[in-house]
Amino acid sequence: MQRMITSSADVLIIGGGPCGLMLANELGRRGVSAILVDQKESTAFNPQANATQARSMEHYRRLGFVEEIRAMGLPDDYPTDIAYFTRYAKHEITRFSLPAAGEARRLIKKMSGSWSAAELPHRVSQKFVEQVLRRHAEKLPGISIHYGWRLVSFRDTGERIEARIADVKSGEERDITAAYLFGADGPRSFVRRQYGYEYGGEASAARDFMGGRMHAIYLSAPDFYKACPHPKAWMYWTFNRDRRALMASVDGKGEFAFHTQLRDGEPDEAITDQIALGMFEQAMGAKIDAKILSRDTWLAGRALVAETFQNGRVLLGGDAVHLFTPTGGMGYNTAIEDAVNAGWKLAAVVKGQAPESLLDTYELERRPVAIRNTGNARKFADSIGLYRASPALETDTPAGEAARRRAGEYLGNHARSEFNIPGFTLGARYDGSPIVFEDGTPPPPDGPNVYVPTGKPGGRAPHIWLEDGRSLYDTFGFYWTLLRLGPNPGDAGPFVAAAAKRGIDLEVVDCADEVAYDLYETDLALIRPDQVVAWRRTEQTDVPAEDVISRALGWM
Ligand SMILES: Cc1cc2nc3c(=O)[nH]c(=O)nc-3n(C[C@H](O)[C@H](O)[C@H](O)COP(=O)(O)OP(=O)(O)OC[C@H]3O[C@@H](n4cnc5c(N)ncnc54)[C@H](O)[C@@H]3O)c2cc1C
Repeated sequence: MQRMITSSADVLIIGGGPCGLMLANELGRRGVSAILVDQKESTAFNPQANATQARSMEHYRRLGFVEEIRAMGLPDDYPTDIAYFTRYAKHEITRFSLPAAGEARRLIKKMSGSWSAAELPHRVSQKFVEQVLRRHAEKLPGISIHYGWRLVSFRDTGERIEARIADVKSGEERDITAAYLFGADGPRSFVRRQYGYEYGGEASAARDFMGGRMHAIYLSAPDFYKACPHPKAWMYWTFNRDRRALMASVDGKGEFAFHTQLRDGEPDEAITDQIALGMFEQAMGAKIDAKILSRDTWLAGRALVAETFQNGRVLLGGDAVHLFTPTGGMGYNTAIEDAVNAGWKLAAVVKGQAPESLLDTYELERRPVAIRNTGNARKFADSIGLYRASPALETDTPAGEAARRRAGEYLGNHARSEFNIPGFTLGARYDGSPIVFEDGTPPPPDGPNVYVPTGKPGGRAPHIWLEDGRSLYDTFGFYWTLLRLGPNPGDAGPFVAAAAKRGIDLEVVDCADEVAYDLYETDLALIRPDQVVAWRRTEQTDVPAEDVISRALGWM
């Protein structure tokens, strides 16, 4: 439902990709008004990202639509293997198997340690996620979403934002005022460029694969499953000397997102549909019927983070401030977490529960995570992209067999490190943030493949499944939560009073579970709206409840 464009709102969001749409949901659910404009006609047509990581799934669960997201992805029984081939119709080199969606839903309830989570990752293309995010945001009172409109200018007066948007088709212009502006306007961000902020980091690493110009072809090829004589997979990689590619199954039926690296002498402006299909056939190693739905060229080899995420009343998130090489699948997922972090803070400030300076913690918390995440993605890109196929690899000889065995060992190890990443997705931390209570305990090790749950403030709240089968997260309030843990939990009364004084909703949750008590290592813990531990009671942090609540909201 397209609403009339109002002339003012609490927040003006530029960009209706995952970051902007998620922010609209976070704000709308908290009763904060927002206008979202995007210059495209609608949500993405191209599949874009193919991996929704566990942490994003947990946020969709918090917002109540995780089952809709699951239903939009690969079917419950479709394999989510990551498989490597010389060419899809030729030799399979190795595969790394992961649980299909239906199995993942059952398995997660029995998992612990690194995978102590409410959700496992899900294979669903970004284009479908955006549709769900948009549908839910549009239902929220106070949220109006307008595709086909472009931001053409804006000014931060110090008191408010004055912006001008234009209808992309008719050129009609409208003026909008808002208390804040959020630039979720992607890699070429108009908002970021207005301030002249540069990206820092690595702009164009050259690799045999995942480092250079990539041609993306969204195609329909249901015959693929007949032509590929190997079991089905979610992700199909080719490893050879002249046509490296990766291809994700989009719907499990016959639509695929195919990406191949262009070689010198393959200028993208010269690529016709016929040439593009030829590239797909090279990767296939056989001729099959395929129809191009769309195609485009993009650049792999970037690990970039903007120098600044905020200026006055203007915040930036998603690709507007960080650009990934998609190895590890964290670009869109990092954008989602930006929106989650900014969402509760903007809402608290708009409602007068927190001082404006709370917004300064957005960059303080999210920029280091962006540097961490782009760095991890870059290491994965090096691991896969600098490894080259040997000349014998494709030959049907003993030397070829030996080369494929060696490659299989390498690629199998690589797949385990790139696609089993609980530490990457669950382990980001906000240590050093002024609204997090440092308690003097050491942070857990930070590596992509291991996540160590800890109640140390600054990280994701440790998760357990309760005896009655519920996720601990399902007991949390939508706003703030005070967890009372163990056999003799502390008194919630002063916290309830302090929360009331600050005007915030605080859900008090009693959790007698021994595992939770051991994990949190405390009897009282304050959980933020983004499910991050703000404070836990230890000798070092045992301050009055009023101080805890005030500081967690940025009243320092
Ligand atoms: C091939 C490929 C594979 C990928 N795979 C993964 C993956 O597996 N996992 C993962 O996490 N990430 C992946 N990514 C990255 C992911 O697609 C991006 O990180 C994600 O789209 C970022 O979301 P966003 O909302 O920040 O920006 P975008 O999705 O780029 O949205 C920005 C929006 O802003 C709009 N806009 C721009 N300027 C204006 C303006 N002036 N006025 C109005 N609107 C404007 C644009 O139209 C656009 O819709 C992949 C990317 C590529 C290219």
